[in-house]
Amino acid sequence: MKDKRTHHCGELSTDNIGEKVVLMGWVQRRRDHGGLIFLDLRDRSGIVQVVFSPEESEDAFKVAETARSEWVLEVIGEVKRRPSGTENPKIATGEIEVYASDVIVLNRSKTPPFYIEDNIDVDENLRLKYRYLDLRRHKMQNIMMLRHRAAKAVRDFLDENGFLEIETPILTKSTPEGARDFLVPSRLNPGEFYALPQSPQIFKQILMLAGMERYFQIVRCFRDEDLRADRQPEFTQIDMEMSFVVLEDVIGLSEKMICHLYKKIKGVDLQRPFAVISYREAKDRFGTDKPDMRFGMELKDISEIAKKCSFKVFNNVVKNNGVVKGINAKGCAHFSRKEIDDLTAYAAIYQAKGLAYLIITENGIKSPIAKFFTEEELFEIVKTFDAKAGDLLLFVADTYEIATTALGALRIHLAEKLDIIPKDVLNFVWVVDFPLLEYDEEEKRYVAVHHPFTAPVDEDIEYLLTEPYRVRAKAYDLVLNGVEIGGGSIRIHKRDVQEKLFKAIGLSGQEAKEKFGFMLEAFEFGAPPHGGIAFGFDRLIMLLADTENIRDVIAFPKTSSGRCLLTEAPSSVDEQQLKELYIKSFGRTIRTGDKLNVELKEESSKTEE
Ligand code: ASP
Repeated sequence: MKDKRTHHCGELSTDNIGEKVVLMGWVQRRRDHGGLIFLDLRDRSGIVQVVFSPEESEDAFKVAETARSEWVLEVIGEVKRRPSGTENPKIATGEIEVYASDVIVLNRSKTPPFYIEDNIDVDENLRLKYRYLDLRRHKMQNIMMLRHRAAKAVRDFLDENGFLEIETPILTKSTPEGARDFLVPSRLNPGEFYALPQSPQIFKQILMLAGMERYFQIVRCFRDEDLRADRQPEFTQIDMEMSFVVLEDVIGLSEKMICHLYKKIKGVDLQRPFAVISYREAKDRFGTDKPDMRFGMELKDISEIAKKCSFKVFNNVVKNNGVVKGINAKGCAHFSRKEIDDLTAYAAIYQAKGLAYLIITENGIKSPIAKFFTEEELFEIVKTFDAKAGDLLLFVADTYEIATTALGALRIHLAEKLDIIPKDVLNFVWVVDFPLLEYDEEEKRYVAVHHPFTAPVDEDIEYLLTEPYRVRAKAYDLVLNGVEIGGGSIRIHKRDVQEKLFKAIGLSGQEAKEKFGFMLEAFEFGAPPHGGIAFGFDRLIMLLADTENIRDVIAFPKTSSGRCLLTEAPSSVDEQQLKELYIKSFGRTIRTGDKLNVELKEESSKTEE
């Protein structure tokens, strides 16, 4: 570089007219108009048009003739107003241009595999392979800048509120959050493994025991789960913990933080306090503990009517402690047989065995099941759903869990299909009064709904071992427009309660000691009451940046099969390295295109013998 950069491309305006500037950046595009060459020069701040003419500088003009997309240039020139009629209102610097007196090629570029432009239609895998080119696009740079500003806003807010940012280990012991651990072998301790943290849960609690009083960290968490579209094996949380607090304190402070974030990033004043709904009410009315309350179509229960009517399917379900619930698809009476079949198939994904329906028309109710109901019963149903001619009532008769879940999913599906979800509404709601434990049919034991450090509601502690299902948790989730963005709890801080809880989830005294002995012991040295919360930072950024793709808010994300296409991780390692770690690998991944197979090596069958 010959000179010091004086300005960034995107910050030049009519205020700079007449100034001599030194710019550094990439060639976005080159247009050769014979006697004049126009180069759009791009850096992080934006784009500016640079004009090369042989009259201004013969040498610079010659260089500009050879320059190509993505070459890196230093441009020296003067800012001038564009001749009238040639302004470009689409870009911020559209009123001016830079007349180049000199240009230095800092580096050349091969022709990039895709254009560095915002609206490109390129296979995402190609973008991920050439992530450095993808990240050169303004859309991506803006998201990275937004992410940075959001992290800073959070840090500033928490700092002002007495929180200390303290790092916790990455090589650690398993922290249960309900997922599989990523394991790291220890060369110095053959046969033993670290686990990457699913969250800093245990350490942040230990920090409270250590008298730190208020902790936070914007921290990476690792969960080895089957990936869904919106999941990454490593993701970032805003993780917080506070001593001497009750549930309302954590909720209040979290709300303030979210409001601060929206104000800083979006300039939006959110209304506080946020709404609060109990877990049970959320399930009853919306069929989920992540209710999207931006629209109605709430679930209603008609079990009482179903019990009395002469439709055997409904009678039996209610007799067997199940429920009959439904939703009113307003204005959908015109749905074809095929459309109703599609809805039935959709509900079946959530295990609903069928979808009964009543079509409300001007001339009465049409349905294969209408004949099983008396006039009064039908009237009752219509009243329950506030149904009018033109509406379609859909019912699931099943266990409470299946009926609510299937209808909850159907409600969202239909709302999307009917396009009735208001887009510009931010609906925050706290979900509270979660059950502490739930029965896991596969594992045949109770498991923690959040994690096993969540405190039970005081009056329910006595039921921990006798009627675990009725114990409520001092837990809270924050849901925005049907997406969980954070969750936490007041914690257990007494050894006996923690031991009881471990027992309730089927951990023997011995196992509890092996896994969490250090924590149980720590509780005996003056553990203060404490609680906290963690927010999914990537998800928050997705919402703030209005993108539905989690990979867009992470600089170097993984694909849905957990791969980094830039570095090609994970990759195989040589035998020697494995040997040092006392590890033998029995499988090998074979990739053909997108297909993935595991080939077992001979040794595996030998060991099995
Ligand atoms: N550790 C929890 C999680 O990662 C959050 C919390 O309880 O603070 O979901």
